[in-house]
Amino acid sequence: MAERPLDLHGRPLGVLRLSLTARCNLACPYCCPDLEDPPDLLTLAERVALVEATVGLGVHTLRLTGGEPLLHRRLEELIAALQPLRRRDPGDPRGALREIALTSNGVLLGAERARQLKAAGLDRITLSLDGTDGASVARMAGLGSPAAGDAVLQRVLAAIRHAREAGFDPARGALKLNAVITRSGNADQLLPLAALAREQGLELRLIEFMDVGNRNGWEPEQVLPAAEMVARIGAAWPLEPVGRAPHGTAGRWRYRDRAADAAGADGGAHLAVVASITAPFCGDCNRLRITADGVAYSCLFAADGTDLKPWLRPQPEPGRLRQALEGLWRARRDRWSEERQEAADRRPAPAEMAYLGG
Ligand code: SAM
Ligand code: SF4
Repeated sequence: MAERPLDLHGRPLGVLRLSLTARCNLACPYCCPDLEDPPDLLTLAERVALVEATVGLGVHTLRLTGGEPLLHRRLEELIAALQPLRRRDPGDPRGALREIALTSNGVLLGAERARQLKAAGLDRITLSLDGTDGASVARMAGLGSPAAGDAVLQRVLAAIRHAREAGFDPARGALKLNAVITRSGNADQLLPLAALAREQGLELRLIEFMDVGNRNGWEPEQVLPAAEMVARIGAAWPLEPVGRAPHGTAGRWRYRDRAADAAGADGGAHLAVVASITAPFCGDCNRLRITADGVAYSCLFAADGTDLKPWLRPQPEPGRLRQALEGLWRARRDRWSEERQEAADRRPAPAEMAYLGG
């Protein structure tokens, strides 16, 4: 295998998060997506060239995100076009893509769409849901009424069913639930969300409210620390730590009453918490983010990105594209989340969440 670049802290590249659109059919106030896409969206061929170039540098996992990626009409076509990278031998010097995952709010995940995604070659889906009643969902998704919140909730519950029926098996980690928790928004939803996930056999991933972007009104007081989330849920269903996987974002916990499923057979046996504010994990971060219009960010909290379009237009130039990405990765020194802890006033003006896709 060809040599893979390391960044200035010795970290390899492993995960690419590709945002397909900055638009969304919801308007979660902690995220604040765009109403319009940027004028210069990448084409399908440009996206395939980008993924191929990053795979050559060490990317093994691709996460498709947004904005809401299911708004992207050519999503299945893109996934299908990436399959040749999956079929490469693991020892292929050009690298091989092991996994394609999707993060979605689930509203548009009907039965047929779920089947199409599976058929195209998608491996995993994470659905986002921040509450289990209409009022909470409305508050967290920026909707006008509890009835609108309930309609979204019912769509997401149906999406869980559709994904499962299409073959995304939660017991194998192929279907998970994300929830962002804010102190005044939905801290009261912790237990109901955990109960729902346990009942559905899904791993729930609780995410601390992050200061990504400039328009979500982030305040430290609104962050419910992951340790507090774990304590509250653990008081209802005792938990034991499993640890954080190398390069993973989430600390994982196992429900003691589900110990019989400890081998991991049941997604509902586990709880995960993403503590990027209170317990940053920059030390082994292996993620690169690329926006819908082809700007690469080497950190979720980075102020500046690198526009890759000069190497993609008028048509992709694989050699020069790879060189540009490699240079970017080798120069990477970001550890913003850890630095936030060390000196609270040294924060850059970050890019918006809907550009970066989480
Ligand atoms: N629309 C899709 C969704 O909601 O799953 C994909 C894009 S969304 C930006 C990806 C993930 O980021 C979601 O799970 C969302 O809850 C999370 N997220 C958005 N803004 C956040 C914030 N300020 N802090 C923490 N997580 C956030
Ligand atoms: Fe849309 Fe996802 Fe942002 Fe919510 S978190 S507004 S669903 S992109």
